[in-house]
Amino acid sequence: MSGKILVTRSSMPPYEEYIREIRDIWDSRWMTNMGPKHKELQSKLREYLGVENIDLFTNGHMAIELTLQAMNLQGEVITTPFTFASTTHAIVRNRLEPVFCDIDPVNYTIDVSRIERLITDKTCAIMPVHVYGNICNIEEIDRIAKKYELKVIYDAAHTFGETYKGQGIGVFGDASCFSFHATKVFNSIEGGAVCFKDPNMGKILYELKNFGIHGPEEVSAVGANAKMNEFCAAMGICNLRHVDEEIAKRRIVAERYRELLGSTDGIVLCPPQKNVSSNYAYFPVMIEEKIFGASRDDVFERLAENGIGARKYFYPLTNTFSAFNGKYDVTKTPVALHISKRILTLPLYPDLELADVDRICKIVLECRE
Ligand SMILES: *Cc1c(COP(=O)(O)O)cnc(C)c1O
Repeated sequence: MSGKILVTRSSMPPYEEYIREIRDIWDSRWMTNMGPKHKELQSKLREYLGVENIDLFTNGHMAIELTLQAMNLQGEVITTPFTFASTTHAIVRNRLEPVFCDIDPVNYTIDVSRIERLITDKTCAIMPVHVYGNICNIEEIDRIAKKYELKVIYDAAHTFGETYKGQGIGVFGDASCFSFHATKVFNSIEGGAVCFKDPNMGKILYELKNFGIHGPEEVSAVGANAKMNEFCAAMGICNLRHVDEEIAKRRIVAERYRELLGSTDGIVLCPPQKNVSSNYAYFPVMIEEKIFGASRDDVFERLAENGIGARKYFYPLTNTFSAFNGKYDVTKTPVALHISKRILTLPLYPDLELADVDRICKIVLECRE
């Protein structure tokens, strides 16, 4: 058993493996601008994720932001506030208007029964989030998008490697954006990817991540710089070799939590989803103070006193950020507000020892006394 436990611990390959992987970079002096490591990771991910079209980015956020730009959208985007800042910021930074839909009380993804009433003649897209690895109601979102001719861009940052009915999660919607940040299930230190349906979008995305440069003497779009460099791609190549094993280890940790906390009154866990192979990215617990006998904040504090870092993730909701100066009415997303005040994600990473999980659960349960 170790002392301090953080909420996550980044996956890294054996040191020697990374050193071997970056050796070629010294020989070629090709450190960025879509070099051989970038190409290799791209093609390995295409296969691993089971998608047709994929491009790599410097991080997950730029993947989302440039996807929205590539689609040339205008107007309103229906999304949820129960997410990381990135989702909402990508919409706003594209001068689009986020319209916040409430979430499902069981799996915390967009409540599909509330989407249609938010659609106006300005709506151009839906941007749902596969929260904690819980997959959205894909069929229903698909039906609504077809009926109203809306684009669907999934924030798939939490769902690396997951499948739904045997298909890679990246194949759904018009695009799905992944994050390969150090804290995610699969990382390339920093990094991200977009999987997209329309092959014509590939060229636009490729140019947007390189300043909109179309040819040696032509710049045809106002792009950004969001190219994944060779050192990050090399880390991705190494981590990809181990990711299945890492997910298998996460599963053991998650199952131990479920066993120890699953039947506690006042602690609500996300039920496993049908037809989904989970990546066990996070272990969220929802704490109902009146039933459990202690609040989410009490549990958070008690864990912190014991050197254990849990995270109030996602709290606060993005529609309450001071950046937006009270522009959005949080009472329109009451379920999201309820959950965000009660949710806590517990430490979860592949090498977390079961003895530590036992200790964490013991501390959580003792908060009732
Ligand atoms: C991590 C994350 C992002 C952003 O990814 P970065 O790679 O950190 O830029 C976007 N959305 C969600 C839900 C995330 O968790």
